[in-house]
Amino acid sequence: MTRRSADSGHPPPRVPRLPEPLPDLDGAACLDHKYLPASAWTGARASYRDRELAKAVCQACPVMERCREFGLGPVGAVMNGVLGGLSASERRQIRHERRLSA
Ligand code: SF4
Repeated sequence: MTRRSADSGHPPPRVPRLPEPLPDLDGAACLDHKYLPASAWTGARASYRDRELAKAVCQACPVMERCREFGLGPVGAVMNGVLGGLSASERRQIRHERRLSA
């Protein structure tokens, strides 16, 4: 394992601006979920089981529609994991279908 040295002359990381603001997701069911870790939604290496459970939790989330539209927007296009009950590949498919029907 390698470590980056704490070089004071090293420039700070650049964090790009989001192309759209984050939606208000107050009351999101994934926040501090009792049984599932956050990595079930965000982890690129989440197991199939955890991802499917996360998608099931999304179905009962009070802000699912808002989250889903955000996930289908430009920011969601570059995010991994589950958003609005959809995996990254499902969002990609919906985006593709929307482009075809436009
Ligand atoms: S829809 Fe799913 S990912 Fe979006 S806020 Fe709700 S629980 Fe979280």
